Amino acid sequence: MEIIHVAAECYPVAKAGGLGDVVGSLPKYQAELGHVAKVVMPMYRTKFLYTHQWELVHEGSQYLGSHWFHYSVIKEKTNKLGFDLYLIDINGLLDREKIYGYDDDTERFIAFQIAFCDWISRWSHLPDVIHCHDHHTGLIPFMMKHCYAFRFKLANIPSVFTVHNGQYQGWIGWDKYYYIPGYDSWNWGLLDWNNTINPMASAVKCAWKVTTVSHSYLDELKHSANGLENLFEYEKGKSIGVLNGIDTEVWDPQTDSFLIKNYDKELVDKGKKKNKKEICGQFGLDEDKPLIAFIGRLVGEKAADLLPEAISQSIYQHHGKANFLVLGSGEPYLEEQLDHMKHQFNGYFNSYIGYSEPLSHMIYAGSDFLLMPSRVEPCGLNQMYALRYGTVPMVRSVGGLKDTIRDFGDKEGFGIRFDQPSVGDITYSVGRALDLYNNKQDLYQWMRGYMMTIDHSWDSSAQQYIDLYQSLKN
Ligand code: ADP
Repeated sequence: MEIIHVAAECYPVAKAGGLGDVVGSLPKYQAELGHVAKVVMPMYRTKFLYTHQWELVHEGSQYLGSHWFHYSVIKEKTNKLGFDLYLIDINGLLDREKIYGYDDDTERFIAFQIAFCDWISRWSHLPDVIHCHDHHTGLIPFMMKHCYAFRFKLANIPSVFTVHNGQYQGWIGWDKYYYIPGYDSWNWGLLDWNNTINPMASAVKCAWKVTTVSHSYLDELKHSANGLENLFEYEKGKSIGVLNGIDTEVWDPQTDSFLIKNYDKELVDKGKKKNKKEICGQFGLDEDKPLIAFIGRLVGEKAADLLPEAISQSIYQHHGKANFLVLGSGEPYLEEQLDHMKHQFNGYFNSYIGYSEPLSHMIYAGSDFLLMPSRVEPCGLNQMYALRYGTVPMVRSVGGLKDTIRDFGDKEGFGIRFDQPSVGDITYSVGRALDLYNNKQDLYQWMRGYMMTIDHSWDSSAQQYIDLYQSLKN
């Protein structure tokens, strides 16, 4: 089959979170299964662009409202990512260093989607499926089916939409309706949710199939979806959950070039110890104490607002027996608070405010526990990386965390689970972590060895997507 993935992120080209990891790995595994998998994304000005070789494959022009824009499509020459990578460039809109966060993000991503549809509609053959990821590509299923400029060519190509994060929906005021290429006006309702153009809602309505990145998240969206609950309930017949996998080549403690010391299941103790020593040295922490880390966006979804209080309480209540390290960026007030705390809890807590791919790998390898108290977690990849690196996940029972982590108190459990995103539950779990680390050494050792053998690769999920696409073929 020929599959086109279209997304705003793709590791290692441009990544802000889990979406980038997924779009950078799922196509690779689909290609390994013998399919032609392609990724199309905006051409940001990231390092990857300047360090790779490209060929021009198409140039075209289209309207964004009354603005006539020119676009070009380039293809990475070497195919070393394991799939074909195409970047769409639109001067003045996509030529930025960052992925998101600009005042004109609406214009940027609508223009990208128009250029994408325009380019595909000029192909001499058609792909078997177009797989859109999250709201930045959520207008594509509508455009393919209903916009005059594209529907003749694209309406019969199956579209799949994956919800990686239902909290962000890409809302656009109806005052910008003219950006969307012409369509029969009675179809406006397919774009609308609560008097706003809602790309996420539109994709859920118009895509042939909708997937979420874990089974539990699909259930949760029917009760909590930032206003789209009824829609997810209504469209449940065409929706399924497919658990994300991880790229086991990128995330492999045996070969990971970011680590000070590589290790496998047999050498987990020695390997982790060396990496921990390095991390603790770097952050002024005590390598003889258990190290509990948090990696992620400092936002409410991740319950990062609980970290300052939960970490202080844990240090006081457990008499400084554990050390804490936070890597993240997000809400400015939290960044400031966590930055300030490192002076207050010098030797017990430290933080790196910002984004660092190399440091994240070192922390997965050098920590003993990884804390994820999320309020919402569609799938979560961090816990799978932690497992692979022999680090015990401490997770709130929600979404994909619930689907991937079993508590060590249950049969063959290998993690710590708690029910509420609260300071009390986190502090209590820190107590359980200390107990495990100090008093149940056998269980702790077994868990670390066992965790590293759990298969979270894309092998089975990549095939599930293929089966889903096949079911859409006439
Ligand atoms: P999200 O909701 O942010 O997409 P996921 O768990 O699905 O959460 O994926 C998060 C990904 O982003 C992981 O690869 C994690 O290591 C990475 N990540 C998050 N914050 C940072 C950071 N500050 N520095 C480096 N990597 C980060």
